Amino acid sequence: MVGTVYLLHFDAPFGHAKHYTGWSADLPARLAEHEAGRGARLTEVVCDAGIRWVLSRTWPGVTRDYERSLKRQGGAARRCPACGVHPRPAPLSPHWSAVLVNGCAVNLEAECRRCKQRKPIFAFLGNTRRRICTTCADAPASVRAA
Ligand SMILES: [Zn+2]
Ligand SMILES: [Zn+2]
Repeated sequence: MVGTVYLLHFDAPFGHAKHYTGWSADLPARLAEHEAGRGARLTEVVCDAGIRWVLSRTWPGVTRDYERSLKRQGGAARRCPACGVHPRPAPLSPHWSAVLVNGCAVNLEAECRRCKQRKPIFAFLGNTRRRICTTCADAPASVRAA
């Protein structure tokens, strides 16, 4: 299965950890889970400690094996734009996109399956599996049919 490896850079170190490397077939949904304090033990405890993070890099079109090999290599800071590394911009995805600022992926957007509008991933909290935006999810049935 092909998905995206992503790198989270913490604003402050948590113990020795300053990064989280993960893989997902649905990156916006996965990032929303992290934001909500779910998804991985490390991001849970980091979230509880009040530490924020940024999505600093993505590797689209790879399998979980790539995540494992990156984790085996260690040294996430050597791959991290937020730590001063300047990778080439990642290719755009038909399903989601991120604006690259100084090589860092920010403003991640995804397309709502109902209204087809592109919105920031934070507009999808709570229903990220179906990737329907909160506006569409809250709308009455009559509006939805329109
Ligand atoms: Zn970093
Ligand atoms: Zn929508």
